[in-house]
Amino acid sequence: MTPTALSLFDTMARQQRPFQSIENNTVGLYACGPTVYDYAHAGNLRTYLFVDTLRRVLSLNGYQVNHVMNITDVGHLTSDADTGEDKMEKGARKQNKSAWEIAQYFEHAFLADLEQLNILTPTTICRATEHIQEQIDFIAQLEEKGFTYQTRDGLYFDTSKLAEYGQLARLDKTGLEAGIRVDMAEKKLATDFALWKFSGEQERQMEWPSPWGVGFPGWHIECSAMAEKYLGEQFDIHVGGEDHIPIHHTNEIAQCQAKNGRIQANYWLHGFFLQLNKEKISKSGTSLRLEALIERGFEPLAYRYLTLTGHYRSHLSFTWESLQGAQTALKRLRNKVTKLADGGQIIDEYQQRFFQLINQDLNMPKALALLWEVLDSGYSSQDKKATALFFDQIFALDINHVEQEKVPEDVMQLALQRLAMKQQKRFAEADKIREQINQLGYQVADKGDKFDVSAL
Ligand code: AMP
Ligand code: ZN
Repeated sequence: MTPTALSLFDTMARQQRPFQSIENNTVGLYACGPTVYDYAHAGNLRTYLFVDTLRRVLSLNGYQVNHVMNITDVGHLTSDADTGEDKMEKGARKQNKSAWEIAQYFEHAFLADLEQLNILTPTTICRATEHIQEQIDFIAQLEEKGFTYQTRDGLYFDTSKLAEYGQLARLDKTGLEAGIRVDMAEKKLATDFALWKFSGEQERQMEWPSPWGVGFPGWHIECSAMAEKYLGEQFDIHVGGEDHIPIHHTNEIAQCQAKNGRIQANYWLHGFFLQLNKEKISKSGTSLRLEALIERGFEPLAYRYLTLTGHYRSHLSFTWESLQGAQTALKRLRNKVTKLADGGQIIDEYQQRFFQLINQDLNMPKALALLWEVLDSGYSSQDKKATALFFDQIFALDINHVEQEKVPEDVMQLALQRLAMKQQKRFAEADKIREQINQLGYQVADKGDKFDVSAL
């Protein structure tokens, strides 16, 4: 069987393009990672779930994926205009810890979230603070080529020197120059951005010497420098959330174009936002972190299921009702799959249709619907299971996981009372309690002086 060829929506081209890797069956994938000054929220996690799905689809197509993700542990300012505070230093002050402690703590929390969501660990995780020299070297080359200028507060990238600036976002430069009021700091143009910021009078915990003065790198330079270090000047796919299109990815591209004369990635993919009442979700509103979902009784994979019900290029609205719906669907799915017999073959017809969907720019909502169709089809129990498990390599929902129904507390109390009655040889009363337990939808099985309670 030849599966449908993979095609992906490339933001740079504004259209779906057949995927062609640079080198045979390997793919270099760079995903912009988190800024670790706070917990990730469900929105951030939607983006990492999308990246994971992309990676799994590439793998199922036979590619070996070299997945690199950075950790922004310095230099991301609270304003995209290169003013405001460093998010790490601000977080540290707020929580009365060192910036290093904050970074380590939230990186750890983030990686734990990924694991709970069955997100594969990137092949390389690289921290900005551990690649300061690479960033300084990169900036030095930009300076040598005449793309920088210095002000009192830092070294800036001069976007007027790069004719192609803003291609990814289709930025209208003239519009921006004349445009609405933006915080210019000491920049010449609104689109110029910091490569290196000076510590100046500020008391900072994270700072390094550089040819331009003591300070810290701008946010965009870490990705250009680390992507080049781990994937080379030219690699296959660069991904991130949709908010990265106008600023972060635009500026990453500018740096690479200026230094190497070309755009670093061949495909640019962007995950659309998760929204809460049509609004942006902010990190400071921590009510939507994964732990909060778990505390409300949701399984992390129910959230994964929910994200699969929307295409990554559409906004997804978060509601507790839709999460409940996803959890119920996931349980039903597992109940169906675990009842099927082992030892079957993947059904060819469904395998082909599955590839048609996932390879058309990751059409997960339809692929998920196809899974339900398989389970309701007339094929043998064994073949349905083999096909479902094949699909789950992409969904990663642990659909073969046997649901352990938690027995309610009142049922457990009744079972204990019944045991006591039996031990006192008050059998009529014990039988009455057994009936009560049955009426609540449970059954007790005696095992010597112990018992088992399960759903009827
Ligand atoms: P940050 O830690 O703020 O740098 O964000 C980490 C990732 O989450 C980036 O790729 C963002 O584009 C993405 N992101 C931020 N907010 C949302 C949201 N509401 N929905 C989906 N992705 C988001
Ligand atoms: Zn980045």
